[in-house]
Amino acid sequence: MRKKNGPFTLEPLELDPPSEGEVLVRIAACGICRADLSVRDQHYPTPLPVVLGHEGAGVVEGVGKGVKTVSVGDHVLMTFAFCGQCPSCALGVIATCWHHMEMNFSGKRYSGHDWSIPAPLFQYDANGGVREQINGAFFNQSAFATHAIATEANVVVIDKSADLQTLAPLGCGFQTGAGAIMNVLRPEVGASLLVTGAGSAGLAAVMAAKIIGCDPIIILDTVDSKLRLALDLGATHVINGSKTKDAVSAVKTICPHGVAYAIEGTGNPAVFRNTVDVLQPTGVCGLIGGAPQGTEVAFDMTHLLFGRTVKGILQGGSRPKSFLPKLTKLHQQGRFPIEKLIAHYEFSNIEAAVDALSTGHVIKPVLTMQ
Ligand SMILES: [Zn+2]
Ligand SMILES: [Zn+2]
Repeated sequence: MRKKNGPFTLEPLELDPPSEGEVLVRIAACGICRADLSVRDQHYPTPLPVVLGHEGAGVVEGVGKGVKTVSVGDHVLMTFAFCGQCPSCALGVIATCWHHMEMNFSGKRYSGHDWSIPAPLFQYDANGGVREQINGAFFNQSAFATHAIATEANVVVIDKSADLQTLAPLGCGFQTGAGAIMNVLRPEVGASLLVTGAGSAGLAAVMAAKIIGCDPIIILDTVDSKLRLALDLGATHVINGSKTKDAVSAVKTICPHGVAYAIEGTGNPAVFRNTVDVLQPTGVCGLIGGAPQGTEVAFDMTHLLFGRTVKGILQGGSRPKSFLPKLTKLHQQGRFPIEKLIAHYEFSNIEAAVDALSTGHVIKPVLTMQ
C-alpha cells in the first residue's frame, strides 16, 4: 500500500531473516479484514508505504534464536501482537495490551520495549542499488505477502490436517465475534441477544451464540443476502435496517423489555446508540465495531444508570494460543461453519477481493498465496 485510499499493488520486496524470538512463515492464505482497509484509508496512523494483512496462515520456514515452542514445518495461524509485560498482559487480558497500537499499527518491528526498529522489509531500486525501507510488522505479520516475519508470541500452531486456507481468518475477524460472546459477554443459555452488523465478526458472534444456546438471536444489517446467511447460521430473527424506520421498536416487537446482551459490530455511532437503547436493565452491549479515531457517540445517562453496561472488546478478549484451537475444533465438528462466509481469491486478484468485501458481496475474502 503506497498511497492513501490505495490501490494495493504487488511488488517484489526483500525480507530480513528472523531475529531473536521471531519466526519466518511461508504464507498459504490471508483473510482481508476491515482494519486493512481502515489503514489503507489512513483512519489509523500506520505510516505508508506499508505491507498490510493480518489474518495470515502458513508454514514455518525458519525460527530465530530463543524460539522454543514453534519449529520449522509447523502449521500456524497468525494473530495480533501484545507486549506480555503491561498491566493488561499481566492480567491475561492480552488483546487490550496497553501497547496494542504500537505493537500492531506502528509499521515498526520491536525488541523489548523499543518500538522504533524498522520493519524487516526493503525494496531495491531498478539498479539494485539504494534500498527503500518499507513499513511492515502489521500485527507482527504483514501477511499480504508470500512470506512474513512473525513472533513466537503471535503464532498459534495448529494440526497439520487443518485447512489453512479456511482457518486463516480465525486470527482476527472470526475470533473477534466468537470471543466477544464466549470470552467476554458469556451469556446464559436462553439469554436474548442482538447483533448489529452481519460481517465476519457479527456472524461469528451469531454462530457462537447458537453454540451457547442464546434465544432469541436477533441480527440487524442492511443487506438481505447477509441476513439470509445469518438465519442459516443460527439467527432466530433478522431485521433489515434499511427497510425499518425504527430499529429499536423492531427489536422490541421481539423482546418487549429489550435484550440482555448485544454486540455492536457496525462501527456506526447511530447504530451503536440504538443498540444501547434497546438493552434491558442490567443489559450489556459489547462494542466490537471499529470507527475512525475521534468518532463520538451520545447516550442517555438515565438509561445507563439502570445497570446497563457498555464494554469495548478487542479481538474477542481472546488468548489465541488457547482460543484458536478451540475454534478449530468447533469448525471440525461443523458447529462453526466459517467456510460459508469465505470466498477465495488468488493473491494477484487482491483488488477484486477488496471490492467484494467493500460492496458486501463477500463476507470474508481470503487471498491464497500458494
Ligand atoms: Zn482485523
Ligand atoms: Zn501488554
